[in-house]
Amino acid sequence: MKKDLNSLFVPVFKRTGAPFVKGKGVYLFDEDGKKYLDFGSGIAVNALGYSYPALEKVIKTQGASLLHTSNLYFNKPQIELAELLLKKSFADKVFFCNSGTEANEAAIKFARKRGNLISSDKYHILSFTDCFHGRTYGALSATAQPVFHQGFEPILDGFHYAPFNDMEKTKEILSQHQFAAIFIEPIQGESGVNSATAEFLRFLREYADKFEILLIFDEIQCGMARTGHLWGYELFNVIPDIMTLAKPVGGGLPLGVVLCKETAVEKMAVGDHGTTFGGNPLACSLGFELLKIVSDKSFLKEVRRLGQYLKKKLNTLKETIPCIEEVRGTGLFVGVQLSIDPLPVVAKCKDNGLLLIKAGHHTIRFIPPLVITDNDIDKAVSIFEKTLSEFSCTGEMVDTEVKSDVKKKSTLRKNKN
Ligand SMILES: *Cc1c(COP(=O)(O)O)cnc(C)c1O
Repeated sequence: MKKDLNSLFVPVFKRTGAPFVKGKGVYLFDEDGKKYLDFGSGIAVNALGYSYPALEKVIKTQGASLLHTSNLYFNKPQIELAELLLKKSFADKVFFCNSGTEANEAAIKFARKRGNLISSDKYHILSFTDCFHGRTYGALSATAQPVFHQGFEPILDGFHYAPFNDMEKTKEILSQHQFAAIFIEPIQGESGVNSATAEFLRFLREYADKFEILLIFDEIQCGMARTGHLWGYELFNVIPDIMTLAKPVGGGLPLGVVLCKETAVEKMAVGDHGTTFGGNPLACSLGFELLKIVSDKSFLKEVRRLGQYLKKKLNTLKETIPCIEEVRGTGLFVGVQLSIDPLPVVAKCKDNGLLLIKAGHHTIRFIPPLVITDNDIDKAVSIFEKTLSEFSCTGEMVDTEVKSDVKKKSTLRKNKN
């Protein structure tokens, strides 16, 4: 009898299957030797897949020389990464931490500090329906989804929510309080790859400028080359005052980044915020190597081409598979919206050797490593197609008689494992 691994952990995750033990290229391998094509990248983290030679080299050299110093002192990888991030973005200042939610916490504090000095009422924070900003209290309060708040009330004071992409409603809510910041994901990830419109972001930019509000872009999922542009904001031609990053930035190690215009953080002072691990040498040296690679023009161009190829293939499926409702996204940030519950489809895809990730609005995310090939895309779409054909558009498993061919193949595959 196999041990129930879930019994070891606080039950906040629902996991099944054998533990993963190895990764190579765009494939993961579990303890039983089964191989999976990874189109989830550990939730948009592994931008260069697994065992990428340039990153492996950094781990060997940096890992052998210096892992941690704290922020009582400078360390070289942190300085190199800071300089490169500032050079490649709109920003003048950087703050390092360890995760997405921590980056957003820092951004909330930066905004409140600045707001408070303008007026004691200027502490309100606006965010948008279906957004996701993290799980700690500030970021959770900014996450405008009741399902994440339930049972954890009271959430922080001064957080308000407006409908995504709705200018009139947003303007109305903004006029009711003194806002310190507006938080937005230019392309929402967790809720299903939903893009803001350029008009909406331009409107927010103008409103923020007019009323001394900081415009904060959470690019934790959409930033760092995922869309085939280094930063999501380049797609809309709207520059934020603060941008938060995490997920891929540490090349697979925990690293969060807050990029800021000088004016957004000029009132922050020594002791106002801090972190023990943030900006540790190993994560920063990996981040530096990663940023050099993914910010290369030809690398970004290839991500855009691969994204178009993936979307074209998924759109072809949509013509024959009625439960595919929509294919959307930019670069290798792609969502497929289904008319049925995506969860069993994702589970079945895993059985069939393909890792995908469920998102909101009945959507399945295709967020592979940015170094996949056309051939990997062909394989992934083919597994997705076979798996979907095992479901009817009511979400039931299809009758064996009707789809005997597909069933036979999937049984064969099962027997092999
Ligand atoms: C994942 C995510 C976060 C939270 O990041 P953690 O590292 O899990 O804390 C915040 N915002 C967005 C847009 C995300 O995708």
